[in-house]
Amino acid sequence: MQSLKYTDVNQTEIQIYDATAWPQIVLLPDVLQHIRTPVIRDPSSFKNTLTGNHFSISLYMQGLIFSIKRYSVHDGPGIRVTIFLKGCPLCCKWCHNPEGISPLRQNIVTCRRIGDKEFYGNEEAGKYYSVEDISGILERERVFINKSKGGVTFSGGEPLLQSEFLLEVLKASKEKGFQTAVDTSGYSLYDNYRLIIPYTDLFLFDLKHLDDSAHIEGTGTSNILILENYRLLLAEAREVALRIPVIPGFNDDPDHVERLIQFIKSTRTGSLRRISLLPFHKTGSSKYRRLGLPYRMEGIEPPSEKRMKDLKEQFLTTGLRVKIGG
Ligand code: SF4
Repeated sequence: MQSLKYTDVNQTEIQIYDATAWPQIVLLPDVLQHIRTPVIRDPSSFKNTLTGNHFSISLYMQGLIFSIKRYSVHDGPGIRVTIFLKGCPLCCKWCHNPEGISPLRQNIVTCRRIGDKEFYGNEEAGKYYSVEDISGILERERVFINKSKGGVTFSGGEPLLQSEFLLEVLKASKEKGFQTAVDTSGYSLYDNYRLIIPYTDLFLFDLKHLDDSAHIEGTGTSNILILENYRLLLAEAREVALRIPVIPGFNDDPDHVERLIQFIKSTRTGSLRRISLLPFHKTGSSKYRRLGLPYRMEGIEPPSEKRMKDLKEQFLTTGLRVKIGG
C-alpha cells in the first residue's frame, strides 16, 4: 500500500495511506480482515518531514462500492436502498456477485448486441463514495423508504471489510432517521461488529455450512470465526435474520439440514427473528466470463420449488418464521 509519512505539529508521526492504491497482490482472507479503510478523522496542519513545509490536508473517508440498488425489497423490511461494498474475505463457489470479492477496482468486459453484431467495451467495477454521497442518495429515496417502512442495507462483498467507512455511514444513516441493516458473511473481527451494533437495527447473517472442512472447500475460508461471531451477535445485537444459501451438493443433504436445524434451536436467543432460505441460482454466471474468472458451478442446477418447500417445512420446526428468498 502506498503511504506518505509526516509529523504533525506535536511531532507525532502520521502515516497517510492512499486509499485508491491497494497493492496489486493477492491478499489472504486472514490478512484482508485486518485492513481498514484509511481515515484521518481530524485533518489539521502537517509537516512534510523531507521539506520541512507545513501544509493542510483534508481527506474524506470513502468506501469502495460496486453497486447501489434502489427499490430493493429482499434485503430487509420495506423498500430499501442496498449498497454493495467491494471486497470479501470469502470466495464462495456460487457467489453471484463475483465483482464484489476483490477489494480492488476491476475491469469488466461488456458486450452489447446490435442485430447479429457484438460490440465489446470495458467498465470498471468499484467507485469511491463518501459518507455524504451515500446520505444524498438516501435522501433522494426518502419518500419511498418512509412510506414502506424501509431503510438502507449495507451488503457486499463483506461490508465489514471496510469497517471504518461502514461505521461512519451507519452513524450518518441513523442520525438521519433511516432504519439500517448489515448483510454479513460473519467473517470479521468481533470488535468490528461491536462498534457497529449501536447503529445497526438488523443483521442479515449468512450461514453456509457447519463443518469446517466443507466450509473451506466451498468458500475458501474457515467457519470457526463465523460461528463464534454468530453466537456473539445473537447475544448482543437487537435483531438478527439468518440467511442460508441452499447449494445443491454442498449443504442440502438431509444430515446437514437436520444438524443446521438443531444448531439454530440450540443457539437461539430473542434476537433471532427469522430464517431466509436462498435457493442457488445462476444469474451471476456470465459475470465470471466478463471478469476472466472460471465459473465453478457448471452443471449444478438450482433446487426445485418442491425441494425448497420441503426445506421450508423442515426449518419451520425451529419455531421461527421461514421464508424462501431474501
Ligand atoms: S460471502 Fe457472499 S459476497 Fe462473499 S464470496 Fe460468498 S457469496 Fe460472495
